[in-house]
Amino acid sequence: MANSGIGRRTLIGTAGLGILAAPAIINAEVFAQEKQQLAIDRVIPPDIHKFKLGGFQVLVVKDGARPSGAPGETFGLNQPAEALATLLSQNFLPTDQFVNSFSPTLIDTGSDVILFDTGLGKAAHAQGAGRLVEGLAAAGYMPEDISIIVITHMHGDHIGGIMEDGRPAFPKARYVAGQVEYDFWTDSARAGTPAEGNQKSVLANVKPLAERMAFLKDGGEVTSGITAMLAPGHTPGMLIFNIESQGKRLVLTADTANHYVLSLQRPEWEVRFDMDKAQGAATRKKVFDMIAAEKVAFLGYHMPFPAVGFVEKQGTGYRFVPKSYQFDI
Ligand SMILES: [Zn+2]
Repeated sequence: MANSGIGRRTLIGTAGLGILAAPAIINAEVFAQEKQQLAIDRVIPPDIHKFKLGGFQVLVVKDGARPSGAPGETFGLNQPAEALATLLSQNFLPTDQFVNSFSPTLIDTGSDVILFDTGLGKAAHAQGAGRLVEGLAAAGYMPEDISIIVITHMHGDHIGGIMEDGRPAFPKARYVAGQVEYDFWTDSARAGTPAEGNQKSVLANVKPLAERMAFLKDGGEVTSGITAMLAPGHTPGMLIFNIESQGKRLVLTADTANHYVLSLQRPEWEVRFDMDKAQGAATRKKVFDMIAAEKVAFLGYHMPFPAVGFVEKQGTGYRFVPKSYQFDI
């Protein structure tokens, strides 16, 4: 059924893959067949998506997607299993598994080429992820073209591709990170706590770059039109960004919401990855109340690719409306 000609024609993705294949169908099949995925990955570039934001060019790259079982072990930790199953079913999603995808994003302002987060890195190739560099290349950007790397927060799926083989993966870039975030992860007080594992990767992959790093606080500027907002909870010092050019606006929300249904329709539901769960929920509501009220687009790292959309306030949560041609006309 999934291989029918009609399915292939109607499900062709946005990657500009020409006659090679239909990635949506291929992806669905290979979730259960990792070896086959490895073979296919060598041929098919990852999904990329480009659009214009005023005078800025935005490029979203699908670094990878990770299927997991048991959504209730990650989302709705403070909810009964039936509530989760009901909400997933109402949204036409399976109740026994979910897919988490990763969308690092490049913004070319004309004077700077800015990369927000670096994906999982080469170490994740065996799982079909860590494909950021390939995706950038497919759009014509080489690693040495990146002038600034912005780290929204220091979890492994965001800093995994910043160093490869002990060297900076983007050799000409300088770095921008949150002061609170950096101080938290490099503090020796993390040793012996649940944060210790992630701290090791920060010490190995981020700290060596500190000399070329600028540290932002709430309201700090990356460059003209790109301003940081402190959004704590998921991590203590996560930064999100207001991006504005020629009257067009986008809020890059990083991991403020981690699932387009479970986190947006039920922002108060606890998420395993939020280090301070109550603060994560409070930040989620504050940020998406603002995005809904101001009717601006947002880009969420774990939203379904291409990870850009709008939200409409609905009850105590939000309805996700994926972007279509709003930036093209
Ligand atoms: Zn993340």
